[in-house]
Amino acid sequence: MENEYILEIRNLKKYFPTPYGTVKAVDNISLKVKKGTTMGLVGESGSGKSTTGHVVVGLFPPTDGKILFKGQDISMPLERRPKNLKRDIQMVFQDPASSLNPKKIIRDIVGLPLKVHGMVSSREEMEEKVSKLLEMVELPPEDFLYRKPTDLGGGEKQAVSIARAIATNPSFVIFDEPTSALDVSIQAKIINAILNIQKEFRLSSLFITHDLSLMRNISSYVAIMYLGKICEMAPTETFFQKPLHPYTQMLLSSVPVLTKEEEELKPKGIKSVGEIGSPINPPSGCRFHPRCPFATEICKKKEPKLVEVEPEHYVACHLYSSE
Ligand code: SF4
Repeated sequence: MENEYILEIRNLKKYFPTPYGTVKAVDNISLKVKKGTTMGLVGESGSGKSTTGHVVVGLFPPTDGKILFKGQDISMPLERRPKNLKRDIQMVFQDPASSLNPKKIIRDIVGLPLKVHGMVSSREEMEEKVSKLLEMVELPPEDFLYRKPTDLGGGEKQAVSIARAIATNPSFVIFDEPTSALDVSIQAKIINAILNIQKEFRLSSLFITHDLSLMRNISSYVAIMYLGKICEMAPTETFFQKPLHPYTQMLLSSVPVLTKEEEELKPKGIKSVGEIGSPINPPSGCRFHPRCPFATEICKKKEPKLVEVEPEHYVACHLYSSE
């Protein structure tokens, strides 16, 4: 039977040694992304969400654990991954300026992956394909093909990086906070371009963000990370209707809403307190316990396991554990 999951992360760890101790950026997480769906990976800065994306795309090798892509093990460093898989997984970075060569024109930046992977045989063919890609991200080719990144605004640069990411027709794209460096007025345009591409290509993706309100439109599933661990994971609607983990409730209680119905759904009586701890020396037991209003003695001593409390809804909290 065909595997219904395009990506499976199993017990993934990514540690970084530093002079001050080991940073446990990602500390034993498991998740699966179904074909044609988007998993939203949400967390505060320092939660390990971007490191997870960087390990999946191959920028860092994992310290431990496995990453399976279409059932094939891709846990090795990028240079040892099969070439067809490199083409099949792409990433859009948070800061488009630093990921685009300022000396090249847009045609050559977006066309480079087409050349590298032998997907075009002439300059004309490349120009034609790049023009189509630019149209998909709403950049008229006649205005943008021959310009350099230094002539573009932040939103236009991000649209170019998205066009480059989809050039090789990948089946999986990691979006790492693609709108967080942009003005609010431009964010909606980029999100629309991503939504159109997701639909047109039936793309599977990992969408990394600290912005929970974005998740509702973009993702089919949401996973919440806290200090290198996943604390809750569920289909998006279940997640917004019935958030269970105290940290998720804390995050949702501070999300701005537009309607009375949405306000009624927001968790009550749990306020945002304190700041995320250190990934070098994380709190014992449940890593959220210093900030949790429901913490008891067991929370300081024993780490809660991520358990399935209803179909596809996973929570790591002693309040829901049967042990
Ligand atoms: Fe709070 Fe304890 Fe649940 Fe952690 S395990 S979220 S400290 S109640």
